[in-house]
Amino acid sequence: MQIDKRIYVVGSGWAGYNLTEHYDCDVYLIDCGGKLALMDAGAGLSLEKMREIIRFHGFSFQDIEAIFITHTHGDHVGGARALQELTGARILAHPDSAEYLRRGAQDKMSVDIAVARGMYPAGFQVEACEAFPIEDGETVSMGEVSFTAIDTPGHCSGHHSYLVETPEKRYLFSGDSIFLGGRISLQNIWDCSLAEYGETAHRLDALDFDALLPSHFGIDLLEGKSHVHRAAEIFAQLGVPGQASESRG
Ligand SMILES: [Zn+2]
Repeated sequence: MQIDKRIYVVGSGWAGYNLTEHYDCDVYLIDCGGKLALMDAGAGLSLEKMREIIRFHGFSFQDIEAIFITHTHGDHVGGARALQELTGARILAHPDSAEYLRRGAQDKMSVDIAVARGMYPAGFQVEACEAFPIEDGETVSMGEVSFTAIDTPGHCSGHHSYLVETPEKRYLFSGDSIFLGGRISLQNIWDCSLAEYGETAHRLDALDFDALLPSHFGIDLLEGKSHVHRAAEIFAQLGVPGQASESRG
């Protein structure tokens, strides 16, 4: 599904557009002008369907050179290892998340507890894979597009958002940090932190961008900033923004 000049959604499950497998987060494909990047890898349970969608848009897995990871929950990185093998792409993640991925640390990624609570199929796990750290504030340029990592903890540890600048527009890929309406995603997991979430909202509110593309529950291509500002305002008044979902994310 093409959503803007260079941006496509090539994976998305129940909390998005139901393009692929039920569990997938929204997986974005960014056309950098010859080179392609993915934002997150999805749960990895329907990679053939993802391949079909990418082919439908005139691209192939082999064109993908980088996979930027927002965080290491199963719906975002279950497909990382397989996609790395299929594409040869370099996986880039927050230094903590890169370590979780290299170790296949199901506990750090809260995948073990999510499987135990029935949020993923029995036997689901995130396979260990090679992953490279990208630091807070670091920019990676690919063709005409630049990707800047922004440390945004709160939903979980090791969470990056990415400010993506194209010749046409500035996009904030916020992962599971801030959603439309300024909503957030708190979960009963070891590394969720409300205090850090508030700091993240203020940090993102200070950025200049046009479009907000979270990993679930819709996008805003023109007034993305308004949603982040709403969350920051609620936190500034010592409140807590509403939940983007009742459970998974
Ligand atoms: Zn998550």
